[in-house]
Amino acid sequence: MGESDIYEAVIGLEVHAQLLTDSKIFCGCSTKFGLPPNSQTCPVCTGMPGSLPVLNRKALEFTIKTGLAMNCIIAGFSRFARKNYFYPDLPKGYQISQYELPVCEHGYVEINAGGKVKKIGLTRIHIEEDAGKNIHEGGPYSLVDLNRAGVPLMEIVSEPDMRSPEEAGAYMRKLRTILRYIGVCDGNMEQGSLRCDANVSVRPEGSGAFGTKVELKNMNSFKFVEKALEYEIKRQISAVKKGERIIQETRLWDSAAGVTQPMRTKEEAHDYRYFPEPDLVPFMPAEEWVREIGASIPELPDARRARFVQAYGLPEYDADLLTSERPLAEWFEEAVRLGAQPKPASNWIMGELMRLLNEDGISVEASPLAPAGLVELLSLIDAGTISGKIAKTVFEEMYRSRKPASAIVKEKGLLQISDESELSSLIDQVIGANPNEAGRYRGGEEKLLGFFVGQVMKATKGKANPGMINKLLKEKLKKD
Ligand code: ADP
Ligand code: MG
Ligand code: ZN
Repeated sequence: MGESDIYEAVIGLEVHAQLLTDSKIFCGCSTKFGLPPNSQTCPVCTGMPGSLPVLNRKALEFTIKTGLAMNCIIAGFSRFARKNYFYPDLPKGYQISQYELPVCEHGYVEINAGGKVKKIGLTRIHIEEDAGKNIHEGGPYSLVDLNRAGVPLMEIVSEPDMRSPEEAGAYMRKLRTILRYIGVCDGNMEQGSLRCDANVSVRPEGSGAFGTKVELKNMNSFKFVEKALEYEIKRQISAVKKGERIIQETRLWDSAAGVTQPMRTKEEAHDYRYFPEPDLVPFMPAEEWVREIGASIPELPDARRARFVQAYGLPEYDADLLTSERPLAEWFEEAVRLGAQPKPASNWIMGELMRLLNEDGISVEASPLAPAGLVELLSLIDAGTISGKIAKTVFEEMYRSRKPASAIVKEKGLLQISDESELSSLIDQVIGANPNEAGRYRGGEEKLLGFFVGQVMKATKGKANPGMINKLLKEKLKKD
């Protein structure tokens, strides 16, 4: 029996997430981003002899919180390990990480890719310190900035459960959403708060064994991860089909050239000479504490999405979008609490609000418009005070000026025209001005009604009551 000549990809991701603590993992230095080089350092994070690390309790708490949110088992006994290697941005000559006893193991997250829900297993989540940063700025030297050295990271290692770049992208997006929901990582990929090493191999479809994997190092955008994987899968399949062997190596994604390039052959674990970190005691998080941390986890995005469909009758699409960020979900629920109908509220949020926020490049938390503003606007539409069309203008004006809808309507004379005699004479004028179209309509071309509605709307600058125009037009066009 020959092997299938259709190949499938096998993908596992190692994601580094920077924890949102104020201070570093083993010292009191600030974790603030973008400060002058080496201004946030001390003997501990610069690796001075004789200095000793002390674990930041918050970093451990956040890691446990993440583990619980991602269905992991929290280890009753865990410890740090030294991972030894030499690099100028690592002053101690080793990174404090975890090896055989990580904080969290055996979890999973659910992703939705191509309309299918799939569980992606998590092998482990461990805590470690970040390294510094080498800066090569041109001159015949390199500089080292240690502000980032000792910043707390979680490494989230998945099982090799993904089968396509799309699934890998969905997985990473889901991780980011959960991390932001539970407030342990800001997910800012441009600043490197969330970055990913993607491991990928190929094998004949249906084969039980894995192929040799290649590691794609340090990608900080969803797009890059997907693009790099697409390229790498094609490269491996064509190599294997030519009878070549895949070398286990680390490659880098060159986004300008759109290719992956070899960087180095991959180290084995024994190259790092891991051993238990003697300067830090193992730790045993009390069950009581773990329970408290669990109780502090908010409703997670999947549960919230399901509830939005159930409780508010929203389409999946709306629920998915509205729950993608916690503050957005909160904005929506606040509007509904204040009396908005769920679906119209959702439409306004997904349409106008998101458009304006995107234009300004701000998040919903910084929105100048509060949910109460939308609720007022919706009530003006319901009451027939303004037309749906004018409401768009009012919405944008509310957002820009922070004035209430009613004040804007009054100031700008935007009241809907629902006065029958006023509209009636207007419609007479419109019909009179378009005798051709009127004739064709009467001859059976009923779709011309839209033309007349448009003309009346134009004449009233969108302020005419659409229901009333329709009714009057039909009456008048039927006559004579
Ligand atoms: P290493 O020791 O090389 O770091 P690990 O076993 O720790 O390898 O796995 C690292 C990551 O690679 C994990 O996310 C895992 O799911 C993934 N992985 C392991 N084997 C394969 C494979 N054959 N193909 C694709 N991904 C793999
Ligand atoms: Mg590994
Ligand atoms: Zn320090």
